[in-house]
Amino acid sequence: MDLRQFGPLERKVPVVGLGTWQMETNDRESAILAIHRAIDRGLVHIDTAEIYGRGAVEELVGEAIAGYRGDVFLSSKIHPDHATYAGTLLSCEKSLRRLRTDRLDLYLLHWRGTQPLEETFRAFEELKKEGKILAWGLSNFDVADIEHAIDAAGEGVIACNQVLYNLSERDAEHVVQPVCERHNIAFVGYSPLGSGQFPSVGSWRGDVLSGIGAAHGVSGRAVALAFLARRPSAFVIPKAARADHVDDIARAGDIVLSRAEVDTIISAFPLGPPKSKMPFV
Ligand code: NAP
Repeated sequence: MDLRQFGPLERKVPVVGLGTWQMETNDRESAILAIHRAIDRGLVHIDTAEIYGRGAVEELVGEAIAGYRGDVFLSSKIHPDHATYAGTLLSCEKSLRRLRTDRLDLYLLHWRGTQPLEETFRAFEELKKEGKILAWGLSNFDVADIEHAIDAAGEGVIACNQVLYNLSERDAEHVVQPVCERHNIAFVGYSPLGSGQFPSVGSWRGDVLSGIGAAHGVSGRAVALAFLARRPSAFVIPKAARADHVDDIARAGDIVLSRAEVDTIISAFPLGPPKSKMPFV
């Protein structure tokens, strides 16, 4: 698996990670096996959140990574309503307990809420000082909010911005991704497979992807992920709750698309005009 510098962090992180949203609805044994397969395959950036399954997904991830903690780049997120100074410290403690660990590699503000960013960031810095988180970042932050966050935190502090990004929703390429790049903030694409709404084989867009995939011996999904991660700032965190799905998407890390293939995908999945409001799930 291809590893990249993750924004300002010294640690390198795999281009393809593993999402866990709604994993509480999957067969538990299969989901745990999928997480083990992801770790074996090098998809060690595991993304979760305190709200997923109201804590149940963090508990599932905690069970799955017990014994492998040192291999994993573990990311969780705080709900913005909890993100006062004291609330952030408390939420983090609860996530650590559910995840059966003493530290998060990454702690994200799930979206911009109403709490002052300065308070949340002061708590993030306190958690960093205590070694309970190693880095922190943003999620679903539009440009104005990113700039406000940089004003509050300074340059070189914010590790990433995790935003909606897939072939049917490339809006982040207009401004959000370039702004992240300008400030050395890792760009993490969530729902990169369209939350399950992936173009099927037999549809013309699906066939564009599977045709390119056939040339590389990989699936259309692996092609989509390689496309989304084509810029050096980018990471993707597809969710898979089956080991065979993990095997499939892991192949994205093994291929490099040619310029012509990238152009073909761009023609099939055009960027479209910029949206006035950043899309989010
Ligand atoms: P996604 O990754 O776009 O799509 C996941 C779906 O694709 C699942 O139904 C999965 O099935 C299926 N899939 C994966 N590999 C497959 C394969 N090889 N063949 C067929 N189907 C395959 O969806 P997502 O969960 O919306 O997004 C990914 C992650 O991003 C989330 O899990 C979460 O960690 C993060 N996220 C963050 C935010 C935020 O606000 N920050 C919002 C949404 C998501 P199985 O599950 O059956 O394997």
